[in-house]
Amino acid sequence: MKCKAALMPRMGDYHDIVVEDVYVDEPGDEEVQIHVMTCTICHSDIHALTGEHGEYEGPGMAGHEIAGIVTKVGSKVTYVKPGDRVLCSEVRQGCGQCIPCMTGHPWHCTSHTRTEKLFRIPGCHTRMNGERCIQTCSGTSGFAEYSNAHESMLCKLDDDIPFEIGSALACGFMSGFGAVLNRCQIKPGESFAVCGCGGVGLSAIMGAKYSGASPIIGIDTMPEKLEAAKRFGATHVLNPKECNVVEEVWKITGFGADHGLVAVAGKGLKRQMMDCTAEWGQVVVVGHGHRRDEFCDELNYFDFLKGKRLTGCVMGGVTLRRDIPKYMEMYRNKQIDIDSLLTNRFTLDQIREALVDSCSGALKDVVYIGCPIPEDLAHRP
Ligand SMILES: [Zn+2]
Ligand SMILES: [Zn+2]
Repeated sequence: MKCKAALMPRMGDYHDIVVEDVYVDEPGDEEVQIHVMTCTICHSDIHALTGEHGEYEGPGMAGHEIAGIVTKVGSKVTYVKPGDRVLCSEVRQGCGQCIPCMTGHPWHCTSHTRTEKLFRIPGCHTRMNGERCIQTCSGTSGFAEYSNAHESMLCKLDDDIPFEIGSALACGFMSGFGAVLNRCQIKPGESFAVCGCGGVGLSAIMGAKYSGASPIIGIDTMPEKLEAAKRFGATHVLNPKECNVVEEVWKITGFGADHGLVAVAGKGLKRQMMDCTAEWGQVVVVGHGHRRDEFCDELNYFDFLKGKRLTGCVMGGVTLRRDIPKYMEMYRNKQIDIDSLLTNRFTLDQIREALVDSCSGALKDVVYIGCPIPEDLAHRP
């Protein structure tokens, strides 16, 4: 079947992205085909397309925060049927029966090992000239009208949850909110500091507020993101361009923050958060950028001598079909504000504009693909 898709003819500058017709495969036995309605933009898409997450050969596609409607299912699919509304996430549902699943580590489900390599491999789309497109950043390529994905990547989306909210839930929101709930595990009254107040950082602030953290300190170099941090629940905001962040966090907390979270890629930021954090505290690293920048420079034994911990968290450590229904209920009850995370809406044809906007400080942009942008939400530059 033919459909429209956004692709990079070759790895390189993301401004080279084009929209053209491609062929999409029939779904495999354990796969579904999704008519993509919305796909939100994640910085991982940009890192992946430009090769910062790893080099690839051939035309590259991205888009991993998908919400849409199932149109076809493979012969072994049992979870969904055509017509079901779903979100599709890089997080995969575990089998629930293997040892990793039973001991709370569904990420390491043994049934996924056979399809483990999801990144930088040929995906389900082929250019008209016969070149197979590479899925650069997850087990699917969502900047397309149709895409295939393994059944384990799906979670059903309730009828009252807008597609764009489903897209944001599929990665950006869970990466911040989930990291706070599942990894930080803040007790009421404990202090929390987050470096980076974009979509992930603000979701982390929502998680900290939900957990009863106090104070909540947002750190960012962009004044508009600090304003957003206050709206989402930060009690204090710090701009590294205007103050010594470590000194200020210590002044606010007295002993350093109980919990530190790094929600943005950047050299020296993990070191800085280690210094902002109490001797008994924990730093959780969520933001990552270029592979070559990912060394925790200047860490030494004395950083850990008194028990301080440094750990990572991918995709909020969520269990897909346990946590997404909870988040949908919280959204419905207005306990979390995902609408305010969404910045601008674009069509698939405007993908380049959308990527540029995302790189210029937008919180989270939405690409509308299979349905029109609602009139009241339309982006008017
Ligand atoms: Zn993402
Ligand atoms: Zn399992």
